[in-house]
Amino acid sequence: MSFVVPPPVTPSLAVAASDARFPIRRVYCVGRNYADHAREMGAHEQADGREPPFFFSKPADAVVPEGDVPYPPATANLQHEIELVVALGRGGANIPVAEALDCVFGYAAGLDLTRRDLQARAKEKGHPWDMGKGFDASAPTGALHAVAQTGHPRSGAVWLRVNGETRQTGDLADMSWNVAEIIANLSTFVRLAPGDLIFTGTPAGVSTVVRGDVLEGGVDGVGSLRVRLV
Ligand code: MN
Repeated sequence: MSFVVPPPVTPSLAVAASDARFPIRRVYCVGRNYADHAREMGAHEQADGREPPFFFSKPADAVVPEGDVPYPPATANLQHEIELVVALGRGGANIPVAEALDCVFGYAAGLDLTRRDLQARAKEKGHPWDMGKGFDASAPTGALHAVAQTGHPRSGAVWLRVNGETRQTGDLADMSWNVAEIIANLSTFVRLAPGDLIFTGTPAGVSTVVRGDVLEGGVDGVGSLRVRLV
């Protein structure tokens, strides 16, 4: 087969202790999955318990490795969100919660970088968030660790430091929706497939970063990453 323009390269992630890489098909993100971050974003407490999860997407090639990451254009308020990233080795639709973890290939720590000013403006106008969330290099992600190494973490510190100063601290145990529930719920909206990544939301403490800042973050028991904005 020939193409009329060069076909895009398949984005991929490094896999710890392996020469093979994980090919990325789609990138889904969960919004407001920690109550303390939902509050700092202005959410009201739900009297009747958990609000259902909601999802947005980033382009597959928004995922970039740790290291130097370009500060994006068109924003004066870039913010960090450190998150547990789930990588799917199997997919499906309407996956039961009890079978959802069987779909997981592995886990990583990643950053959901956000142009908060563009996102806020979009929210105000009822417009899509895409340009606030899905920009180039908006998802720096550390190496994937296979489930054989990590197990399925249900607790563990989620943390982020900027220039050595702690900004975000949380724990996986405080996610409103756990990994199995997220996979099951998302699979009622779209058919999931090998190569899909899911960013599972961030704890409180998101803050503005600028060019030159060094961001170090991680999920204990899973992995970490270090990014310098250039
Ligand atoms: Mn996020």
